[in-house]
This record gives sequence, C-alpha cells and structure tokens, in this order.
Amino acid sequence: MNNKHNTFGFSTRAIHHGYDPKDHHGALVPPIYLSATFAFPTAEYGAACFAGEASGHFYTRISNPTLALLESRMATLENGEAAVAFSSGMGAIAATFWTLLRPGDEVIVSQTLYGCTFALLHHGIGEFGIKVRHVDLTDLAALRAALSPATRMLYCETPANPNLRLVDIAAVAELAHQQPNVTVVVDNTYCTPYLQRPLELGADVVVHSATKYLSGHGDITAGIAVSSQALAQRIRLQGLKDLTGAVMSPQDASLLMRGLKTLALRMDRHCSNAQAVAEALQAHPAVQWITYPGLRCFPQYELAARQMKQSGGMIAFELKGGIETGRRFMNALKLFTRAVSLGDAESLAQHPASMTHSTYTPKERAQHGISEGLVRLSVGLEDVADLLADLQQALAKCTRVAPRHAVTDEH
Ligand SMILES: *Cc1c(COP(=O)(O)O)cnc(C)c1O
Repeated sequence: MNNKHNTFGFSTRAIHHGYDPKDHHGALVPPIYLSATFAFPTAEYGAACFAGEASGHFYTRISNPTLALLESRMATLENGEAAVAFSSGMGAIAATFWTLLRPGDEVIVSQTLYGCTFALLHHGIGEFGIKVRHVDLTDLAALRAALSPATRMLYCETPANPNLRLVDIAAVAELAHQQPNVTVVVDNTYCTPYLQRPLELGADVVVHSATKYLSGHGDITAGIAVSSQALAQRIRLQGLKDLTGAVMSPQDASLLMRGLKTLALRMDRHCSNAQAVAEALQAHPAVQWITYPGLRCFPQYELAARQMKQSGGMIAFELKGGIETGRRFMNALKLFTRAVSLGDAESLAQHPASMTHSTYTPKERAQHGISEGLVRLSVGLEDVADLLADLQQALAKCTRVAPRHAVTDEH
C-alpha cells in the first residue's frame, strides 16, 4: 500500500491516501475489484495464504483490494494502525464484541446507547454468559467502583445517540487501563474523525456506522472498526470472517471513499447549520428543553469544546406538551424529512422512543436518559435559511398546545 501521503492534512489524506493513478492505468478514481475470489499462482502459495504466511488477497470475506484501500484511509483518518470494513455499523460492533468477549467476562457500557447496540448487549451477548454493566461514565468514582478483574471491555458513544451525553474519553480510558486486559471501544459515529479522534485520547478501538456521516449520502449501509494492527487482525479473522460474515461489498467501499473525499467540507456545513438551528430552537417558546454541544447551556459545554473540534450536526430537544406536540411538529415539517438514520445531505427528524430506541422498554428509556418526548434532528446540508423557515412554520403549529403562553398572552 502506497502511504506516501501520510504527512498530509486530513482532507488531502481523505482524497489521496494509499492510491497512485499510475499503478492503475492512470485511473483517477480507484477501480472496484468486483471479485469474490483471487487466483493462486501455485497450490503452495494458496496454502501459505491460508496459513497466514503469505500476504495477498484470496477471498473477499477476508480481504479485497478495494476494501483494503478504504481501510487504509479510515486508519489514517482515525490515526490508527489498521481498519476493518463491514457491511453495517452493527456488523462492526457485533464483530468487535464477539471477538473480544467470552463467557464470564464483564463489559462496562455507558448509560445511553444506540437502540440496536443496546439490544445486541441485552438480547445478544448478554444471553451468552457475558455480564453487561451500565455505568454513568461522567462519574469517575462510579467507573472506578464498577471496574473489576473480570472487566474486559469499556464501550461508549460520545456524543450518545440520541441524548448527546458526552464521555470524557481520555479520563475513562486512563482509568479503565489501570485494569489489565480492558479494551476501550468508542463509537465515533456522531463525530467522525474530523471532529474527534478517540484513539489519540487513549481508546483502543473506534467503531463507526459508516452509513451516516462517513458515506454521507444515505445510499449505503456500512461499518468500520479501527485499532492497532494486532487487534484489527483478530477482529478480521474472528469477528468478520467467522463470527458475523458481515463483509462490505467492494462497490459500497467505492461509494464510501467518494463520501470521504468531502467529509471535512460536509462536516463544517453540518456543524454551522446545526448551530443556527439549535440557537433558533433554544429561543422558541414552544421548546421545553434542547441539548446541543455548541450551546452555552449544554451541561458538558467545556468537555465538548476540549474533546470535539466542532459541535456536530445532531440535536435533541423536546417540545412543551411532550410527544403529542412532538408528533404534530414532525408532521408539520415540509423540508426536514421524517426518517431515521443521520449524517445525510437531507435534514432528518425522528422520534427515538417509537423508532431507533424502541428496542428499550419505556422503563429502560427512563433509566437510560431517553425521554419519551425527545425529537432527534440530523441537520443536513441545505441552505440554513430554508431549514430555519421550515422549523419556524412547524413550531408555529405547536405553540397552541403551550397553555402557559396562551395565558400570558392574555394578561
Ligand atoms: C446507526 C448507528 C449504529 C448502527 O449502524 P448501522 O450502519 O445502522 O448498522 C451504531 N451506532 C450509532 C451511534 C448509530 O447512529
């Protein structure tokens, strides 16, 4: 792999890393190797490949030249040694869990997690003899008390989907690593390596739903895990090859590399649009509460400023009147699309309690900080004036259920 671009800046590496057109008939865009299997020059060479003694592609569920190029780009962008590509974020997360955990092990996870990750823990690995412990990771004393010789993994999202709670990655990684054999895994989907690089802060593995900002156009599902070379090799040969088989297709790898070329540009715009939307929501009388890392009222504002380059494109808020008003608001939106997923060019609105986080029971949502009325916005790349106008017209249809204001208006 050609790594001559390693010292360049983020966007230059996102566009060029690991590829030279002169090795590919001058093709500007890396070719897609649509091949499941690869020819062995001799039977002995094939045997050496399977024995791990010869490097080389031999079957696409293990490796493929198009996937390898994408993986080398993701590794350099996250500042890790190696990456493994998957067919979805859940593929990457499941493969990482299944590779690193065995019956009897304990995994410490943060309070709030994406709905399917929560389900994988509680209805998947949790039923195979692995103990799942939720800990409020903003409380280092609680983490210290929860860590034990059986702890094998600490797993968190920061910011968390959907309530945007942050975890101080450097602080929890340092504490977790005081126990031998704890692997710290961070889901970096909300930030992307452009805004936050957990490996530089002490994490051991970064996982992504590349379905979201990394690909950025809502046209593929994809996942990535980034780590040391040794860990990536284990995740590839166990989690990917044998335990999930969740291999990314080479065509999707090409689309994902196309998305990466504009990642920095897109994230800048997602962040500035989201800041304007958050400020408008904060100022609106129909809004009960709002959480966005770029607002001064965000409880972890200082940590966000220290850990994230910018505040991201995701917002959580609740309207006065709870989910009833929230549904009316969502149904009144004309430009924002009612849809799950995030990180697309299109602005999206969804209701986690009935959609992405319906894997939690209502009681579990209450315990894990996901309110029933929370509306999640993924702020897209449209002109911000159009987004603000859409929000204002939809919010205007909700103010009628805020009786406090109806009353004050009369006095
Ligand atoms: C969407 C998402 C996932 C799952 O990714 P898929 O690509 O949908 O499988 C995992 N973590 C977070 C934070 C997500 O938003």
